[in-house]
Amino acid sequence: MLECAIVGGGIHGTYLAQRLLEETAIERSALRIVDPHAQLLESFRRKARACEMSSLRSTFVHHVGTEPFGLEDFAEARNREDELLPTRAYPRRPSLSLFLDYADHVIERRGLESLHRQAAVESIGRETHGRSGESLVLETDDGDALESRAVVLAIGHGGRYRRPAWADGVEGIDHVWDEAFDPAATADETIVVGGGITAAQLATDLCERETVTLLSREELTTATVEADPRWINWNHVERQLHRHPPGSRRRLEVLQAAQNRGTIPPRLLETLESAANGDALSIRRGEVRSARGVDGRVRLLLETGGCLSADRVVLATGFEPVFEHPFVGHVADSCGLERGYRGMPVLEDETLAWRRTGGEASPVHVTGALAAGTAGPLAGTVIGARRAADRICHSIAVDTGPPMAAD
Ligand SMILES: Cc1cc2nc3c(=O)[nH]c(=O)nc-3n(C[C@H](O)[C@H](O)[C@H](O)COP(=O)(O)OP(=O)(O)OC[C@H]3O[C@@H](n4cnc5c(N)ncnc54)[C@H](O)[C@@H]3O)c2cc1C
Repeated sequence: MLECAIVGGGIHGTYLAQRLLEETAIERSALRIVDPHAQLLESFRRKARACEMSSLRSTFVHHVGTEPFGLEDFAEARNREDELLPTRAYPRRPSLSLFLDYADHVIERRGLESLHRQAAVESIGRETHGRSGESLVLETDDGDALESRAVVLAIGHGGRYRRPAWADGVEGIDHVWDEAFDPAATADETIVVGGGITAAQLATDLCERETVTLLSREELTTATVEADPRWINWNHVERQLHRHPPGSRRRLEVLQAAQNRGTIPPRLLETLESAANGDALSIRRGEVRSARGVDGRVRLLLETGGCLSADRVVLATGFEPVFEHPFVGHVADSCGLERGYRGMPVLEDETLAWRRTGGEASPVHVTGALAAGTAGPLAGTVIGARRAADRICHSIAVDTGPPMAAD
């Protein structure tokens, strides 16, 4: 039986595995990262490629390793400091290639791929062992179940992309995160629907090779990062969020007010607006009423009555809410876990352990976007992985004992 199974091999799962090995007595042989992709971090890599992103929004101290200045040291040792990009009123940000090369370096040096089991977890159930306690059984899509004492859900947004109803069944409309979407596929004209960083990034890059319309429902707004950096600090999270009951509507309201959702960093908006001064990019504001295919093109009818058409439409409309993800609901039902407002997991604030409906802590812990009700508006970002690990590792270490001393 495993000591801990991490469901999801993205930034959060990969980071947490290292912290568990460093800070608890868990042996490598008793730890698994279960993820359906061939490689750890594949989901992040693919999304970054799809929107042709070239640099991170966050700073160089936010990365997959556990040493805060590890990425900077890595860049210096390889004469790649020029990939730490100066940013107005903000610390330097790494290029995407530097961020990923350092992530590969960490994964290789720590032998993390050997912890990776390539499978999707379909369900999690409880197994009781007389009076000695219980374990969790993870059913996977390859039919080979895993049994573990503790589980950490690190599923990101869970891979459900927001797709407006008007796009249903219309050929030529892809979501930017769809496996099928290829930004390099030839098109003369593309409409990008969305108003956040992904839409802006994609439109800016595509317009170098084709004609692009960026269609946004709201006026484009700027923010350097996803939320005020004070939310990195647990004291701030406790003062602002934990004063409301776990899983409550008030917590969701605090989160929504704090998150700079659908915003664009100022440097990217400047690039976008200067591209819009040329012929290849136009920025339109409007809401789509309906869509249909006409002569191999897609035509969008707008609420204001106007219409737009192009060879293809790309949706950069974000994710469906992870709190309402069917997998999250199944796990809650089968393990007797409490859900709050709009399905939010009710977690112990001190440990990120998901509470049972009876009120006691379960061995299911949560990190990433799904933990936002406890870890705050930056829970789903790279730095959110570090904050969540602070509490999860402590909780799991208490149960497994301190790490073995090195020889
Ligand atoms: C293009 C882009 C740019 C970004 N830039 C930044 C940035 O600059 N700074 C920043 O802080 N954040 C950034 N983010 C946010 C970023 O997504 C997160 O920081 C990070 O990827 C979240 O990691 P995660 O591990 O929670 O989720 P993910 O990277 O989504 O990984 C979750 C993993 O869980 C797996 N999974 C899901 N369900 C199951 C299951 N049932 N069984 C097994 N595995 C499962 C998925 O397949 C996936 O591999 C960016 C996001 C995108 C899309």
